[in-house]
Amino acid sequence: MSILSDALEHHPETQPFWSALGEGRFLLKHCRACGRAHWYPRAICPFCTSADTEWREASGDGTIYSYSIMRKAKEPYAIAYVTLAEGPTMMTNIVDSDLEAIRIGGSVRIAIGKRDEDLLPLFRLA
Ligand SMILES: [Zn+2]
Repeated sequence: MSILSDALEHHPETQPFWSALGEGRFLLKHCRACGRAHWYPRAICPFCTSADTEWREASGDGTIYSYSIMRKAKEPYAIAYVTLAEGPTMMTNIVDSDLEAIRIGGSVRIAIGKRDEDLLPLFRLA
């Protein structure tokens, strides 16, 4: 498990998320009571504690809230907090991109891919 997937662990509550990810679809949990999306996926809405939540496919669009480039790694890589178009902010990696072109506020797009053997919702510069 990578640090990116710790909060997601594979258990029954998140199984629909993993199944969809394997099919190339990125799902978010939305709350029907307060109308907000949250990350990571939970059965109970973290904003209003309603259990009336549902899975919806996310747009896959986001912007970089903050980032850090790991330059000492054998192959430098970027960790970022990305704010999704639907509202939630998530920790992820920026992949398949020029690391020097990463900017706070920059647009990114979902790029589902593997990291440390786990298929994860990663992002690339849009
Ligand atoms: Zn809610």
